[in-house]
Amino acid sequence: MKRITVAKGDGIGPEIMDATLEIIIAAGAKLEIDEIEVGEKVYLAGDTSGIANESWETIRRNKIFLKAPITTPQGGGYKSLNVTTRKFLGLYSNVRPCMSLHPFVSTKHPVMDIVIVRENEEDLYAGIEHQQTDEVVQCLKLISRPGCEKIIRYAFEYAKQQNRKKVTCFTKDNIMKQTDGLFHQVFDEIAKEYPAIENEHWIIDIGAAKMADTPEIFDVIVMPNLYGDVLSDVAAQITGSVGLAGSANIGEECSMFEAIHGSAPRRAGQNAANPSGLLQGAVMMLNHIGQTDVAEKVQNAWLKTLEDGIHTYDIFKEGISKQKVGTKEFAQAVISNLGQKPAILKSVSYANSSSLNLPKYKRKPAAKKELVGVDIFVHWAGTNPNELAEKIQKIESNVIKLSMITNRGIKVWPNGFEETFCTDHWRCRFKPLENSDITKTDIIELFKNALNHNIDIIKSENLYSFDGKAGYSLGQGQ
Ligand code: NAD
Repeated sequence: MKRITVAKGDGIGPEIMDATLEIIIAAGAKLEIDEIEVGEKVYLAGDTSGIANESWETIRRNKIFLKAPITTPQGGGYKSLNVTTRKFLGLYSNVRPCMSLHPFVSTKHPVMDIVIVRENEEDLYAGIEHQQTDEVVQCLKLISRPGCEKIIRYAFEYAKQQNRKKVTCFTKDNIMKQTDGLFHQVFDEIAKEYPAIENEHWIIDIGAAKMADTPEIFDVIVMPNLYGDVLSDVAAQITGSVGLAGSANIGEECSMFEAIHGSAPRRAGQNAANPSGLLQGAVMMLNHIGQTDVAEKVQNAWLKTLEDGIHTYDIFKEGISKQKVGTKEFAQAVISNLGQKPAILKSVSYANSSSLNLPKYKRKPAAKKELVGVDIFVHWAGTNPNELAEKIQKIESNVIKLSMITNRGIKVWPNGFEETFCTDHWRCRFKPLENSDITKTDIIELFKNALNHNIDIIKSENLYSFDGKAGYSLGQGQ
């Protein structure tokens, strides 16, 4: 018996959750269920997080959470419960299988069978955003070595367990050399530990184009958070229906399983919604908790039901479908097929599909870190970079000098182009004179001088080298 937490959510949530639970229990799932309330009612009762404190306790105690979609009320101030749950519980891995069910669900890509493994905690989703000048706002993109190691190892272990042949990594490291560069570097390091699995890296733009055009050449694809968010929807959509995909959010302690679609409020209460997406989430949950025989039985019965042409409205198609059914009737059809296998679609075998046991991240020995300069960001409403350089040079000391000014990353001084468009947000890079060392005191001195010269500093970044390697990028055009 496994105790799990269930939230029936909003809109079509309660109907598809009832259908899902009925199917998996009929298949023999050994579950004790604690139900919690999340979503619209909780939000509208004044809790901007969409979940009560007692519910967190239930989720943390049971560790396994099956969640139906919720409605986030329109208007500001309501925090996304999904993002909060992922972050609070450290659900670093988002796993989304995207498989075509041709010819029973129409798709342009009949042989597609991809699993997207998306990093779920870092990247631009850290939510660290600031307005710095009248014209410029920024969002901090954070990528960490532990974050990369965990998600990339997860992708390879998943591929190994599921007998998949290849893991592909998508990044944009030709542009983001530090952040995406680290993700790619860690991918190459970890790939070496799995010589039996093919590995490759694609720049995200051409990789995404290729995935949308020729998905059959991909198997498992691992990506940082933002790319994974976008492309996992693309991948699900091109299988023929987003309504059929589930996803798993896996952490070291807790995990959450769900459908990828929303609460479809306009369809609520009509016994019309397709419970398949949530059922796919539940199948992943059953595998995760080691009830792999039940997961296999449910999945094969579900495939057989689709193959029999018993379809809800969203995938019903004259000529392919045999019978248009509601949520409850679909669930009954799956239940009556328990124990059977599909004849045309590939049946599944989950003998070896329970949760992955990954090693805990071990912190590496610290590198030799040296302060080698500072970037000072300045709010200045002028337009001529030479004029700014003249002002900024007044704050130099006898050890640290202005070496470059960029605007939105493009070098505008020295030797900038007049054509370069400039905003009011300037990055002034200071480097020590040759053969001089600098300390943080020198940087504080720069700040003091700036204050005396009415220079409006909005932030600074220290420049470091780690074991002699520059830990910062050059200016564009430098
Ligand atoms: P949606 O996924 O709810 O609906 C998009 C379209 O797909 C609609 O036409 C809907 O009728 C159809 N659809 C979705 N699921 C279906 C199913 N199971 N069976 C049949 N048809 C289905 O997206 P939306 O309309 O943009 O969002 C509605 C609400 O859901 C919003 O409040 C949004 O914030 C929320 N949402 C929640 C989650 C989540 O909880 N994980 C995810 C996405 C959106």
